Amino acid sequence: MKEQIDVLVELVEKSTCMVAFTGAGISTESGLPDFRSPGGVWSRFRPVTFQEFQASDRGRMDYWDRYLEFYPPFTQVQPNPAHLALAELEKQGILKAIITQNIDRLHHAAGNAEEKVIELHGRIDQTICLDCGLTLNTGIIIDRVKSGERAPTCDQCGGWLKPATISFGQNLPAQELEKAARWASSADLFLAIGSSLTVHPAAALPGLALEHNAHLVILNATATSYDSHAHLVITGQAGPVLAAVIERFGWSVRPN
Ligand code: NAD
Ligand code: ZN
Repeated sequence: MKEQIDVLVELVEKSTCMVAFTGAGISTESGLPDFRSPGGVWSRFRPVTFQEFQASDRGRMDYWDRYLEFYPPFTQVQPNPAHLALAELEKQGILKAIITQNIDRLHHAAGNAEEKVIELHGRIDQTICLDCGLTLNTGIIIDRVKSGERAPTCDQCGGWLKPATISFGQNLPAQELEKAARWASSADLFLAIGSSLTVHPAAALPGLALEHNAHLVILNATATSYDSHAHLVITGQAGPVLAAVIERFGWSVRPN
């Protein structure tokens, strides 16, 4: 492990455009389980697709029913050393962008600037009207669902309200996807953290970075499908590894 951290430190030192790509695994040390692990949300019930949400009141009620269980853990979490290390790397001018599949806002909570974090799968703290685009606080809508409004609609236009997270069958936000592709193409160091690199199209980004001659580093607890293409694979927990990298520069991971 020490040798691998040495190599990563060297790559970070040499990099002029470092980009991080993060998945659910960066937030497990904050207490948010990834979905696919045993006991995760998806092993307990099948997600409601975007098409089912659009098709009927039944679909929208089922969707919000699941959200009642899904949402609360996200309101109680704090960034862990892995998030804090990335915030420090941004602060030091090394990390130029974070492309994330996460919806938990923990990169922002750690101190990364809003415009430096590209959220491919949306954000859980906001709910939007699918018709007029009105943006509301998800916690407030959850309270409305709890008080019996099982498929809440917009007070302004009557449209359907849906959390600003991307469902199965729903398109990823085109603008974010474009930004992500731009950053992946300009990176000279692309560090993928806590992602199985299986969910497309997000999982194509490491390939794009490689095509544009970036060094690809994968930091993940388990093997990924890109391991054989990576310049460096670190099999381990994101928090301790990234904290060790930061310490090597004489910096520290500190709460925002
Ligand atoms: P995923 O398929 O990208 O898998 C997560 C990976 O992280 C796994 O390979 C696992 O071995 C690894 N991992 C777990 N803990 C780790 C740690 N401490 N350090 C390093 N690696 C670790 O993610 P998923 O759970 O299948 O989720 C798919 C999608 O679901 C995400 O892309 C996201 O949109 C959403 N999701 C978001 C959150 C969140 O916002 N925190 C949580 C769960 C799921
Ligand atoms: Zn509306």
